[in-house]
Amino acid sequence: MVTSALRSKPASTNGHPKKIVARKAARPNKTKWVYLFGEVDQAEKYARSWDGVRALLGGKGANLAEMTRVGLPVPPGFTVTTEACNAFLAAGETFPPGMWEEELVALKKIEALAGKKFGDPKNPLLVSCRSGAKFSMPGMMDTVLNIGLNDEVAEGMIRLTGDARFVYDAYRRLVQMYGTVVLNVADEPFEAVLATHRKRRGVENDAALPPEDLKAITAEFRQIVKAQAGRDFPTDPIEQLKLATMAVFKSWNGKRANDYRKAAGIPHNLGTGVNIVTMVFGNMGDDSGTGVATTRNVSTGEKELEGDFLINAQGEDVVAGIRPTLPISAMKEKMPRAYAQFAKIARLLEKHYRDVQDVEFTIEHGKLWMLQTRDAKRTAQAAIRLAVDLADEKLITRPEAVKRVSPDHVDYFLHPQFDPGDKKAARARGDLIAAGLNVSPGAAVGQLAFDADTAEQWARDKKAVIMVRPETKPDDVHGMLAAKGILTSRGGRTSHAALVARQFGKPAVVGVLTLEVSVENRQFVTAAGRTFNEGDWVSIDGTTGEVFAGKIRTVVPEFNDPYLVKLLKWADDIRQLGVWANADYPRDAERARLYGAEGIGLCRTEHMFFETERLPFVQQMILAKTPEQRAEPLSKLLPFQRADFAGLFKAMDGLPVTIRLIDPPLHEFLPSHDELLHDVTALEMKIQAREREGQALSDILSKRQKMLDAVEMVRQTSYNAGIEIPVGLPTREEQWDSLSSMEHRLQVVEVELKDFTSTLAEKRRMLGAVEGMREQNPMLGLRGVRLGIHMPELVTMQVRAIFEAACQCAKDGVDVHPKIMIPLTAHSAELQMEQSILEAEAKRVMDEQGIEVDYQFGTMIEIPRAALVADRIAEYAQFFSFGTNDLTQTTFGVSRDDAETGFLMEYLEKGILPENPFASIDRDGVGKLMEMGVTLGRQTRPDLEVGICGEHGGDPKSIGLCHKIGLDYVSCSPFRVPIARLAAAHAALGDKADLR
Ligand code: PEP
Ligand code: MG
Repeated sequence: MVTSALRSKPASTNGHPKKIVARKAARPNKTKWVYLFGEVDQAEKYARSWDGVRALLGGKGANLAEMTRVGLPVPPGFTVTTEACNAFLAAGETFPPGMWEEELVALKKIEALAGKKFGDPKNPLLVSCRSGAKFSMPGMMDTVLNIGLNDEVAEGMIRLTGDARFVYDAYRRLVQMYGTVVLNVADEPFEAVLATHRKRRGVENDAALPPEDLKAITAEFRQIVKAQAGRDFPTDPIEQLKLATMAVFKSWNGKRANDYRKAAGIPHNLGTGVNIVTMVFGNMGDDSGTGVATTRNVSTGEKELEGDFLINAQGEDVVAGIRPTLPISAMKEKMPRAYAQFAKIARLLEKHYRDVQDVEFTIEHGKLWMLQTRDAKRTAQAAIRLAVDLADEKLITRPEAVKRVSPDHVDYFLHPQFDPGDKKAARARGDLIAAGLNVSPGAAVGQLAFDADTAEQWARDKKAVIMVRPETKPDDVHGMLAAKGILTSRGGRTSHAALVARQFGKPAVVGVLTLEVSVENRQFVTAAGRTFNEGDWVSIDGTTGEVFAGKIRTVVPEFNDPYLVKLLKWADDIRQLGVWANADYPRDAERARLYGAEGIGLCRTEHMFFETERLPFVQQMILAKTPEQRAEPLSKLLPFQRADFAGLFKAMDGLPVTIRLIDPPLHEFLPSHDELLHDVTALEMKIQAREREGQALSDILSKRQKMLDAVEMVRQTSYNAGIEIPVGLPTREEQWDSLSSMEHRLQVVEVELKDFTSTLAEKRRMLGAVEGMREQNPMLGLRGVRLGIHMPELVTMQVRAIFEAACQCAKDGVDVHPKIMIPLTAHSAELQMEQSILEAEAKRVMDEQGIEVDYQFGTMIEIPRAALVADRIAEYAQFFSFGTNDLTQTTFGVSRDDAETGFLMEYLEKGILPENPFASIDRDGVGKLMEMGVTLGRQTRPDLEVGICGEHGGDPKSIGLCHKIGLDYVSCSPFRVPIARLAAAHAALGDKADLR
């Protein structure tokens, strides 16, 4: 029954229904280690916030208590706190004083609530012992069910229930779980016993085994425990409870829990709670069942109950995927009353927690029991739709909806999916080999690896891996994280593989029942009999559940998901930062605009110089000795640049386009010095070799000629004298043949020599030029504004191209707003000199064209000095853009080109730096300079527009800083634009917990 507490509108923070008012009351001196589910008020009083309650009782314990408080059918139980866990671990795995006694008292209380007695064969209470940390760590820690059973209790239960099958099924499960969880016995021997019995009886699943088998299995299991653990299975229920509590505490420090926390960024010092819950049974016949469900579809976000259900089974059967489950909708038919109650509770829980819930339930003889609720994990696609729907349904506000979507969720839409054409072709080829459940969307292509270690190793070797298993277990997480995608032959939507994959955004297809996976033989066989071995390529589609042989091409999804569009629109309403894009070509600009960019913050003009038809002119220009010689190649480049800029203006019609004048050192456009040196040396050697060959050929030819003459003379003399020509004398043809092939070779050698010599001259000239321009530290050398001052014709040509394009576009009706950006300024005098030349050229062009356009001149702030004297620089610059790539390089004095492969990585590993400063702005240093730059700049020019165009412009954390220090916009790659829109909204919403 649901009480009115659930129906009333909740008024709290972070999804919790009740506002917790901090009380001044002193905390009790004596630590309370155990809270009954009914004692949540006390827990709140102690922990002072709902977040504190979750930390104290763990998410599962807190929510069971909360459901109890609001009157939902929760079996009686209690939670041993995370504080007790931490005290236990700190004391070398010893319970803190008083804890065990409190646990025993709580046990008495739940005995009273349940009307049963722990260990009493006449009316036995069985309990489960479940882990539950503050943040959900699905399957990472331990659980033991059916605690309290022994031979006497089992017999007593049979007398009470008349159901020996049920009782021995529960008993054998206890022994098995106890063995594996508490006594560390391997699972395989237990599974082998079950398999033998199934085979003998000719049945497919354990539920079909008769009671006498289950009884025998229980005995065999106890033998396994004794043999493998070297001790008897404990028959004293109290001892069972004590050891199980300890085992759950210890599992907090288990390898898989540790690995998971590392990957999920969960702190290691939180500890786990232990929930002791009265057992209710879903395996008491056909009026019993169990299921796990989410209150909406967490793969797609659709508004429908989603989940798996089994009749006559215990909860673990559903998750383990051992028996094929029914969809939750089947419960409607099979148990209409329980279903109706469940559906109602699901809706109420959503309303209560103001979010989609992931619930576990059991039906015992037709009565519904809620065993767990928590905020459901969801795919990126679902996260966005759910946020939008919940806001539209007024369950949450729009700012909350925006806050609930993370940059990673948006990122999904910018990631590859299979190219539809290529996929169709694969299907037509018969490469669609199987289909399963589409539990985590996205496309993944990789080589099959049959275990987690192999997957991890191969990923380290830079291979793309699809990890395939019959089903995954918590020990497999490291391989799953390393793999591109996950494939299992068993398991449902709530299986371990599905949960983990969704959480980490890995495409996954599970429950592909037609695949016969043999880990032993490192292969799987499809229904059609095709065999795939380890290392073979497959492509899996986590969006549709399809599995293909071979590789399928991937494409980036269309950016038109209506929910995403809507959510980002809400983000736009919230954010204060503008979002612009770094784009060099019209096609990038178009994409950026489609993704919501409000301008171009950086067009790196030098990229255009690298195109094949332009590079020769660029090189000619660089090699020219005088401005006059330079004029010709520049005049060839001008039309190219003009067309480039016109394309950008058209694509960004009505929006600002920031064009940065040439920045990099000129040698970047010339072949590398080392390569040239190598070529020159190689050519010199080739020439020497050809010269020697030519000489040798000439010598031979002249000797042969002489010989030929002599032979000819003998022949002639013999003929004249009427003497027979001597035998063995080569014929005239033979002589000619050998001479002509040599002459031919000599000609080739001479042509090659000529070629090599002229190439050598060209290469030497280039080498001379490169050497003349060579700098020890080119990144700190003749580049940026310095280059413009040194070679004004080049930047003047660029400005001419910009203004000719702008004027022409304006005449054609395009609304143009060019912003000319001068890079690498360190001193205001540099800017003053270059800008005055360029502004004059701009005016000249506008005069020639007879039209004025709206324009600005500004500079990048990417040298610390520029930030320090930003007030002086702002006397000339009408806008600033922080080039944080260079600013980070020059502030740290760390080369940006070597940083990520050099010592910086060691610094990160050793914790010297908390983060890579080239990925996320170093707030203390670079951030301080930026703040100073903004403040000083605006002192001189209050309306100074300031943005950022370094890579950090697309990094959510850095965007937070940009918002804080009052930038006008961030500019990033087109693919980051949607993420930046969301991150800018998050920055504007700040840390405020209550966004209602
Ligand atoms: C920068 O330095 O941050 C910048 C945007 O310029 P580039 O990366 O082209 O040097
Ligand atoms: Mg730069």
